Amino acid sequence: MTEVLLVIDVLNDFLDPAGALFCGPRARAIIPVIRSLLDHFQRQGQPIFYLTDAHRPDDAEFALFPEHAVTGSWGSRIIAPLTPPKDAKIIPKTRFSSFYATDLEAELRRVGPERVWVTGVCTSICVMDTVGDLRNRAYSPLVVDDAVADFDQQFHEFALIRMERVYGAKRIRWGDREPSPEAPA
Ligand SMILES: [Zn+2]
Repeated sequence: MTEVLLVIDVLNDFLDPAGALFCGPRARAIIPVIRSLLDHFQRQGQPIFYLTDAHRPDDAEFALFPEHAVTGSWGSRIIAPLTPPKDAKIIPKTRFSSFYATDLEAELRRVGPERVWVTGVCTSICVMDTVGDLRNRAYSPLVVDDAVADFDQQFHEFALIRMERVYGAKRIRWGDREPSPEAPA
């Protein structure tokens, strides 16, 4: 069974305290969880796609948010502890949904996953819009509660419930899983 791991916007601007749109201390806690998921998916030989904000300096999104993740800047880089494994694909994006004007749709069609795991930031923005667009395309989304975070904790909690009820997203906590024999903790 093919399962895909999506890792959304794990960039310096969102996850480093010096970043332009740092998501806060709760967002730091998702880093080791995503690291563990990356190692797990890599061991299983399952596809991993990073979706990375990559804006032009004059991007229209900066009417809504402070400038962030400008292509080539420090803030646009993936944070060091989540450096992509060598087989991972990096897919730049410019909008909240990971599908808007990106290669994600073609990549998913190529691998035909039975489930798509979603991690990263922010729960109520890029994560939720991506989960909605997965459902619109009849993919089964799975959200890892302890691998997503938001600037706003209320939005985070609301988004998790909405993704579950409206988009039929399955939810798990990766930190709570039983240790498996081939993957000792
Ligand atoms: Zn952005």
